[in-house]
Amino acid sequence: MAKYEWLAQIEAMVGKQYGRIYAWDKVNEAMVRQWCEVMGVDNPIYTDAEYAAKSLHKQLVAPPAMLQAWCLAGFNDILAPGSTTENPYGVLKLLEAQGYPAVVAVNSNLHFDRYIGIGETLYYTTTFDSISEEKTTALGTGFFVTLKMVFFSEHAGDEADEKVGELLFRVIKFKPAKKPESKGAETAMPKMLRPKPGISDDNRFFWEGCDENELRIQECNSCKKLQHPPAPVCMHCHSFDLGYKLASGKGEVYSFVVMHHPHVPPFDNPNPIGLVELEEGVRIAAGLVGVTDGIAPQIGQAVQVEFNTFEGDLTLPQFRLMPMKESS
Ligand code: ZN
Repeated sequence: MAKYEWLAQIEAMVGKQYGRIYAWDKVNEAMVRQWCEVMGVDNPIYTDAEYAAKSLHKQLVAPPAMLQAWCLAGFNDILAPGSTTENPYGVLKLLEAQGYPAVVAVNSNLHFDRYIGIGETLYYTTTFDSISEEKTTALGTGFFVTLKMVFFSEHAGDEADEKVGELLFRVIKFKPAKKPESKGAETAMPKMLRPKPGISDDNRFFWEGCDENELRIQECNSCKKLQHPPAPVCMHCHSFDLGYKLASGKGEVYSFVVMHHPHVPPFDNPNPIGLVELEEGVRIAAGLVGVTDGIAPQIGQAVQVEFNTFEGDLTLPQFRLMPMKESS
């Protein structure tokens, strides 16, 4: 007997299968090539026809991890022709109606039966696989709902379509846990602090320099070259004998970015960050100060270091923009 009467109605739906969602395109070389490019996959069985012909596949195949990609609706959320429109997520809507509005995906397992070749037509069906007992987690109280998408390769004529893989997808549909009552906004929202630098034996001199209002740039005692950020070894001559040199703090804007969105506390918004080329020849990334609202820093604009202390004990080098020289 279910804990809630309405739950029996949902449990009766377990095993229900929804539609066929077709792929917009046959499995094709162009999408495979682009997917491999963005994912950084360089296995030639996906992109080099000559190589693939000599492989055990005897032809180009698609990366198995692309399985779900073929049948996605796309940006406009329009399903490919031949697809059914019945919503397999109806069970989630029923849970929403019972006061479980929030959803978090918790588990996704892909299983492949075989490689898929260029030219195959894919579709999938969705089965409402299971719903758990009501459970309470740190997120809140709700139900784990498991859906199973089974992918098929469509065969011509009377030949039965062939299962090629499946995707198990589990979400928790829940009532969010109540936050402890708070007296005012200040206690509800803890103040965000700046991330602290990771200080190690290799870069301690730099941060201690900031505390002394000195801009210390790592210098190799063997070849006398400079490098930043600090490293355990000289990148020029591989010497471990490293010291530092005091920089003048003068430089110019080599590049910059002004962060507008998202607004990340505790940083000011907009948040200008510069890549400053010091007159000693090395570059350093740091916050820019003195940026007038609406006027972007200029590449090549002169800057001067200043040291600003945040939250009592965090002293950072920042670079103040110097007025631009009038150009004639
Ligand atoms: Zn060196």
